[in-house]
Amino acid sequence: MASEKRYWNKEIECMPREEMIKLQNERLVAQVKHVYDNVPYYRELMKKRGLTPDDIRSIDDLHKLPFLTKADLRDAYPYGLLAKPLEDCVRIQSTSGTTGKRVVAFYTQHDLDLWEDCCARAIVAAGGSNKDVCQVCYGYGLFTGGPGLNGGSHKVGCLTLPMSSGNTERQIQFMMDLGSTILCCTPSYAAYIGETLHDMGYSPDDIKLKAGIFGAEPWTEEMRHEIERLLGIKAYDIYGLTETSGPGVSFECEEQTGMHINEDHFIAEIIDPDTGEVLPEGSKGELVFTSITKEAFPLLRYRTRDICVLTREKCSCGRTLVKMSKPMGRTDDMLIIKGVNVFPSQIESVLLKMSNATPNYQIVVDRVGTTDTFEILVEISDDMFSDTVKTVEELSKKISSDIQSILGIRAKIKLVEPKSIPRSEGKAVRVIDKRKLV
Ligand code: ADP
Ligand code: ZN
Repeated sequence: MASEKRYWNKEIECMPREEMIKLQNERLVAQVKHVYDNVPYYRELMKKRGLTPDDIRSIDDLHKLPFLTKADLRDAYPYGLLAKPLEDCVRIQSTSGTTGKRVVAFYTQHDLDLWEDCCARAIVAAGGSNKDVCQVCYGYGLFTGGPGLNGGSHKVGCLTLPMSSGNTERQIQFMMDLGSTILCCTPSYAAYIGETLHDMGYSPDDIKLKAGIFGAEPWTEEMRHEIERLLGIKAYDIYGLTETSGPGVSFECEEQTGMHINEDHFIAEIIDPDTGEVLPEGSKGELVFTSITKEAFPLLRYRTRDICVLTREKCSCGRTLVKMSKPMGRTDDMLIIKGVNVFPSQIESVLLKMSNATPNYQIVVDRVGTTDTFEILVEISDDMFSDTVKTVEELSKKISSDIQSILGIRAKIKLVEPKSIPRSEGKAVRVIDKRKLV
């Protein structure tokens, strides 16, 4: 078989580091000036620090700039951070509102082009070309998933199936009839599509799918293996957020060991979320992005609240772009239960190591008096459902002890019937924290 094109933009994706720094320096200097001149909100933040654009001469000066947070975006809603006149903007998208009031982002045609270009890089890195049929089942509309991958798929020249999410049996029917080879959706929806495929009596041999591009929510390596098994594909991660355009800020290559950040458009930093101090390469901390090419909504030093690690270790794919690890969750996804920090992804990782647990789980936290209660509902597989009480009890005990050894606290494990936990067609709801209602 002829080797497929591995890069969408080789010059950029494999650019020597010194050249990339030069490009970033030029773009950063121009961007800071653009923002200072056109966004009074940010100009005020800079003035408070006694800064003018002249103080920012290269990426080494980045740390001098103030951070922007989601609170700033909500403060400035809707137009306060706009850097172009509205007549130059052609699109609005919005966050999913996972963690509170939605924020909106604006795009000029140039911004849409660069966003779709980033998504095209992700599709090509996953083995996509104009010979592919790309089924996009991220939600379309204000959510960035559908429009972003749709645009990227067009750029690559794939035959694009703009399915949006939902109606899972129809998704599978189209997948079979039209021979979809690439699937784009959230990982939780991919798992659900895989499960439905099997429930309909099919196997991966009945479909042509070869790769999936999944993101928009945290997912573990174990979840990756489960999806790869259910659908018979290679599952690639993609990351992004509405504030920085949408998916495609970073994407995985065939090595599947983290996501290359499109550094010609975004400068990434890792900071200590408590002190704001910039941390050295390899440290775990909060990811901060500066967008150096966006016109309408260019955020400088935007705090994503996503926790991950950056590495510049050489990648076998030949790309020189820095890689970020899978975000383990956001600072505000983190639960504090009985004083202990708990990320849902830690629990997912334990569950998917068990052969009879499924990727369907829910964490229920409550407070009785002054004590937190911590319960995990885990759906068991069909096979296990018909097993003896003893084997079911053993599974429950094993999960309980593994959770305790990882988190240091005990959770009540409740094994529930197959198909009893609601499935997600977009971002999965893993946590029910009843304490917030008090
Ligand atoms: P909201 O913040 O309301 O969910 P978005 O739809 O813009 O709005 O989602 C962006 C967020 O989704 C990111 O900040 C991150 O927390 C999460 N996310 C996106 N892609 C990934 C991914 N591949 N892995 C983990 N989390 C992701
Ligand atoms: Zn790589």
